[in-house]
Amino acid sequence: MFQKYFKTTLSIAFILFYVLETQAQKQQDRPKIVVGIVVDQMRWDYLYRYQDRYSEGGFKRLLRQGFTCENTHIPYSQTATGPGHTCVFTGSIPSVHGIVENDWYDRSIDKKVNCVEDPDATGVGGPREGARRSPKQLLTTTIGDEMKLANNKNSKVVGISIKDRGAIIPAGHMADGAYWYDKRTGKFVTSSYYMEHLPDWVEAFNDRELADYFLTKKWEPLFPIETYHQSTEDDKDYEGTMIGKKSPTFPYDFSTTDKDYGSLRSAIYGNTLVFEMGKAAIEGENLGSSGFTDLLTLSFSATDAMGHRVGPNAIEIEDMYLRLDRELAEFFQFLDEKYGENGYLFFLTADHGASQSPGYLLENDLPGGAFELTFLDEIDQMGKQKFGIDKTILTMVNAEVYLNWEEIKSRNINEDQLMDQIIQILNRHEGFVDAWPKKDLASAPWPDIIKNRFINGHHHYRSGDIAVIIRPGWKTSIKGADHGLWYPFDAHIPLVWMGWNVSPGYTNRYIEMSDIAPTIAAMLKIQMPSGSVGTPIQELTD
Ligand code: ZN
Ligand code: ZN
Repeated sequence: MFQKYFKTTLSIAFILFYVLETQAQKQQDRPKIVVGIVVDQMRWDYLYRYQDRYSEGGFKRLLRQGFTCENTHIPYSQTATGPGHTCVFTGSIPSVHGIVENDWYDRSIDKKVNCVEDPDATGVGGPREGARRSPKQLLTTTIGDEMKLANNKNSKVVGISIKDRGAIIPAGHMADGAYWYDKRTGKFVTSSYYMEHLPDWVEAFNDRELADYFLTKKWEPLFPIETYHQSTEDDKDYEGTMIGKKSPTFPYDFSTTDKDYGSLRSAIYGNTLVFEMGKAAIEGENLGSSGFTDLLTLSFSATDAMGHRVGPNAIEIEDMYLRLDRELAEFFQFLDEKYGENGYLFFLTADHGASQSPGYLLENDLPGGAFELTFLDEIDQMGKQKFGIDKTILTMVNAEVYLNWEEIKSRNINEDQLMDQIIQILNRHEGFVDAWPKKDLASAPWPDIIKNRFINGHHHYRSGDIAVIIRPGWKTSIKGADHGLWYPFDAHIPLVWMGWNVSPGYTNRYIEMSDIAPTIAAMLKIQMPSGSVGTPIQELTD
């Protein structure tokens, strides 16, 4: 009797538990909001390098409560801001999504174009000419576009950054708004692609005049400067200096910069502006309140601007990450209060990493150096002498060399022989490992991992004509740091998820940046973006 009673009770309890469990799952069918953060130029190792002084609620909380994909890499060669933000939010690669670099040469109009340039758009909220920007050059959909396509545009999508491309590309084609910082006015602006007037909440945010306030401040290290043991001493000759300063040293006094709003873009205040604007967007657009999942993308690029200037071994970078950590902790608290800890899906990643400063490498007997662009003249001279071409190289944009095909084709020359001669010159260059014609990349005598990254990065119409592997630790100056190469220091990025349907954990499995958008799509049960080549990360989706 007792046993039967016990069994029945157990069965009822089990059924009840099962019903409650499935109901709970149903109620949590989707998160209220997805918040995606890209930290511009954040190397993977920064998650750990400064951990001794990270707070409990920032990066440490992310690693403790979240799921970290420790071995995430960028699957294409040109590790730059435009392609990086694009890959994260499209799951695609430059050969497909078309954002091959921050700028490229457009042969159809014979000029260099920016990846978010749009002559049909005008600035809104700032100078009309300054913000001719839109995502029109992006050839695929983004995860935000797919969120909207999945529910008849009921999801809201907003992108915010200091850089225009850091706001525009993540937000996608159908965004409700993309807002970026205008260096001339210190305000957040947008373009006529999105709207004719700034929303009231953006006007109200701009009326707070935060940039003016930061221009009265002095950036001092958070801790006594002699305790920054993760970095070299403050004054190093391979660190670049900020405009108006004689040395690359603390303090950075912005009250003396003569209202240079642009100077905030490479200071800790650039990050604060994005956090504050992000919170204002959540309130102003009522994000996460409609019953449909919204998307907020925040891109922090003060880290990149300062990183280029001083390199990863500077106190400025250590201090910036210690402060970013504290602001992240505050932001998590804001999201917790707004949505509950499991009401939002959060991820943090980077658009690329950074090399060490060549000056620092040389100081420590490590491989690295600075090279000159002498090969451009050499190639032109060779073209003239051997083939009678006036100007063989049309232009060079970033690391992309564009040949002057109009002139080359107008002469009856053997193009393969010409290319052979060009490659020979490039291969003699001290800063290069090897060079290969882009149209023949499939036959390049390179290991698959390198060859595939160059193939993934090559767009048949927008890219240049020659793939050059630059030696690790080499760039055009020994000062500061750069990115753009395929090596781990540029391509190994952080990727940590937290919140809705994320169980704590980690994997060291090889994952690619292009897996991020398909993972979000799989978690939300929506279609992945149109050019996705990635695979959902099973540890998060199963
Ligand atoms: Zn970047
Ligand atoms: Zn950069």
